[in-house]
Formats: sequence, structure tokens, C-alpha cells
Amino acid sequence: MNIKNYINGKFLPPIANGWIDNFNPAIGEVYGQIPNSTKEDVEKAVEAAEKAFPSWITTTLEERSKILSKIADLILEKLDFLAAAESKDNGKPISLAKAVDIPRAASNFQFFANAITQFSSEAYESVGLNAINFTLRQPLGIVGCISPWNLPLYLFTWKIAPAIAAGNCVIAKPSEITPMTAYLLGEICTEAGLPKGVLNIVHGLGTSTGQAIVEHPNIKAISFTGGTKTGAHIASIAAPMFKKLSLELGGKNPNIIFADCDYNKMLETTVRSSFANQGQICLCGSRIFVEETIYEKFKKDFIKKVSELKVGNPSETNTNIGALVSKQHLEKVKSYIDLAAQENTEILFGGNRVVVENSENGYYLQPTIIEVKDNKCRLNQEEIFGPVVTIMSFKTDEEALTLANDTKYGLSATLWTNNLNRTMQFAKQLHTGIVWVNTWMLRDLRTPFGGQKDSGIGREGGFEALRFFTEPKNICIKY
Ligand code: NAD
Repeated sequence: MNIKNYINGKFLPPIANGWIDNFNPAIGEVYGQIPNSTKEDVEKAVEAAEKAFPSWITTTLEERSKILSKIADLILEKLDFLAAAESKDNGKPISLAKAVDIPRAASNFQFFANAITQFSSEAYESVGLNAINFTLRQPLGIVGCISPWNLPLYLFTWKIAPAIAAGNCVIAKPSEITPMTAYLLGEICTEAGLPKGVLNIVHGLGTSTGQAIVEHPNIKAISFTGGTKTGAHIASIAAPMFKKLSLELGGKNPNIIFADCDYNKMLETTVRSSFANQGQICLCGSRIFVEETIYEKFKKDFIKKVSELKVGNPSETNTNIGALVSKQHLEKVKSYIDLAAQENTEILFGGNRVVVENSENGYYLQPTIIEVKDNKCRLNQEEIFGPVVTIMSFKTDEEALTLANDTKYGLSATLWTNNLNRTMQFAKQLHTGIVWVNTWMLRDLRTPFGGQKDSGIGREGGFEALRFFTEPKNICIKY
């Protein structure tokens, strides 16, 4: 099936007529093509957005809210269809796409449909000076939204929904590795009555299509989620152009387990936080640190639970671990497993490719647990972004905190303890944007979402996102 660009409400082939193969990772075969868009396609999208902006900026909040709600409703109506498409494109279990990815994409639109009706300009009375200030929050104009392959529709809509809710017109690019649900979103937006040109979806490679979006002088902001290296490159282009930037980048998140935790809840959640979506979630707890007194017990129980996970074709409902997203990514993850032998570490479970019946060429890998002795090893310092976790013991709170913070990344951390004092000490001293205590990936869309250090700059979610997609302008009136 050939995917097309969605520009000015129409589905268009790429101007230069270049195409890229799209793979089904469950069977390792090409099943369609996507536009290899060039600067010219991006230019056409910008022209459409510029034409749409004057009218979109004047739509009432009620009208915008209604359209966003309608998009949310249509996504839910097509839940099964979209989940199947996401699973086929990405390799994730269909059950996961149905329970998490697609419902969350709908929630993103519904959340910002509501949030925009509560977002308002601020006013400040300058008492004693006979003056009043009010701060307008005006849309930026045309903005760029660029997203990765791990949670395709989920992260794509997490950017688009606040951008259009705030009154901007959008040029969006999904990952070239998982373009399908972004393509289907175009149809949904038309059906929901989103005026043409408000959202334009341009497909293609990061280094050409993505780069053209970042470089375009009329695109005022870039909201990007993806790898740290890509984020740094984007910043090097966008920052000198004084574009607003939101960068949600990689992670190497610690999962810190104390003996006083609720053990069964911790064990069950740790299996999920390690291997959900084949470990391809930026929030996965890939470095597990366990208090020495329960280390041996945890090791035994964790290995047992992980050995029960079923690796299989993502379209089967009893599959826990589907296919990795691409051959290239499978090879990257495998190269880290191969490092284990050189790094004085031990593979406790997994480490091998899995051949799945009737899907022999798919990109399957066993969930893998590696015991490490030192947090400085590459396995503990570099983002693997696959079904691979390391485990290591610690003795004291101070040691656990030092280990947790000993990484260039700072996205999230998970802490398992029932000690309130320890919880507060860690909450204050962990160098991450998000700390989960006795839970993982519990999301309230009002909260600020993002990372510190090499995990990025800026925060998404709630009013933070609406502030990002608007320019504050202060007006001071003397009376
Ligand atoms: P990536 O950086 O390779 O690509 C992300 C997107 O950027 C894709 O759409 C790609 O085409 C585009 N791109 C690549 N080069 C570009 C360029 N020069 N200019 C403009 N766009 C360009 O990342 P990926 O491999 O798709 O995703 C995995 C990474 O994403 C991991 O590092 C993961 O941690 C990160 N991630 C972060 C979060 C978060 O919220 N912090 C969430 C999900 C994924």
C-alpha cells in the first residue's frame, strides 16, 4: 500500500516522485511505500499552512475544542483498525496497541480539547502605578512536529493536539519507519472537519524531509521527540534561527528497588517497565538496582517471570513481546548483548534471536537480563532501547542515589520503597524530570513531561505544552 502526504487536506504523492520501502517487522518484508519527500513538498505544506493560519487563529475556542473532540471520538471508533495498523507497522503486540497506543492518541486530542477552554491570558494590576498589564498568549504561526517510531500515533498526536488547540498550523513528520497511523490520521482529521491546511503531514527521511522542516525559516518552533544525537543536531540548526525548541530525547532510567517495598507489586511492574513494547519506551527502567538483602531472591524471581513472557507474532493476542521495529535496530540491540562478554558481565537470561513459526524473517529477540558489576560499563551508560535490562546490587541509600544519577541522561526514575523519608530524599535528589514511586508509567496528562541533562529541554503536557506553542505578549496600559 502506498502512503501519501497530507497537504492542504489532500493526499498527494511526493513532487519528485521518490519513494521509500515500508517494512512489516513481524515478517521482515516490505508491505508498502512512503513518500521520500523533499524540500519542495515541505514548501508546499508550509504554503498550505500559511494560507490556513489567518482563519484558524480566529476560530473560537469552542469550535477548536469541538473539532479536537471529534478527532478523539473517531480515533476510538476506529480503535481495532488503528491498533492493527500500528501493530503491523511497528511490530508491537496488537493487545498493547489496543490498550495503550490508540486510546492514548484519542486522549491526547480529548485532553487538549478540554485544556484549551481553560487556558487564558494573565492580568497583573500594577497597584500604586495606575496601570494594568495583560499578557496575551498568541499562537506562534506555523510549527513543526517531528516524532519517533516507538509509540507512533501516541507521540505524534501528543505534539499535534496542543499545537492546533493553541491556534497554530502544523507541519508534522512521523518516523519513516512507522508512518502508517500518521497517514490514517489525515483521513480522520478531514472527517472531523479540521479545516484544510491546519495539519499537514509530510513523510520522509529525517536527514532530508525532517531537516527541511527544521531549516524552514517560516516554521517558528520545533517540537521533537527522538534520539539525543538527532536532538543536538536539530538544536544546532534551530537555535541560531531563534526557533522555540522542545526536545524530548533518550533515557537510561534507573529502577531502584529497596527491600521494604511491596515485593509482588514491584516484581510485576518491573517486568513491564523492563520489557513493555520490547523495551522500546524512552521511560523503560533499563538499569535495575536492587538492595543487597533481597538481591538473590529478586534475581531468581525476576528471571522466572521473564522466562514466562511469550515472544511471538504481534498479531496474536497472547504475545507479550513482539518484533523489534527494524532489522537495523535489531542489529544495534544485539551488538550491545554481544558487548556483555567484553564487559565483565553475565547474561542471566535471554540474549538470542527467536525464530517465530510462520514469521521466520521477523525481528524477534528474547527478553534479556544482564548482571553487571559496575555502572560505568557501556551497557549501563548507553541507551540500548530494546528488550535488555541490567541488574546490580547496592548496599546503602547513598550508593543507590549515586548509581542512579551516574549517567548523562535524566529522563525518569522509578523508586520502590515504603519509607517516606527515603522517598522524599530521592525525589529531591534524583536528576530526572520524572520520578515514579511504587508505580511506573502512570500518566496524568496535566503534569509536566520531559527530561534533564541529555534527555532534553522543555516540558510537554498540560498547560506547559500550550505555553510552548504560544508566544506571550505583555500589554501595559496606564490610566
Ligand atoms: P531519531 O532521532 O532517529 O528520529 C526521530 C525523528 O526525527 C524521526 O521522525 C526522524 O525521521 C527524524 N529525524 C532524524 N534526523 C533528523 C534531522 N536531521 N532533522 C530533522 N528530523 C530528523 O529517533 P528514533 O530512533 O526514531 O527514536 C528513538 C529515540 O527516541 C530513542 O533515543 C528514545 O529514547 C527517544 N524517545 C524519547 C522520548 C521522550 O519523550 N523523551 C519518547 C520516545 C522516544
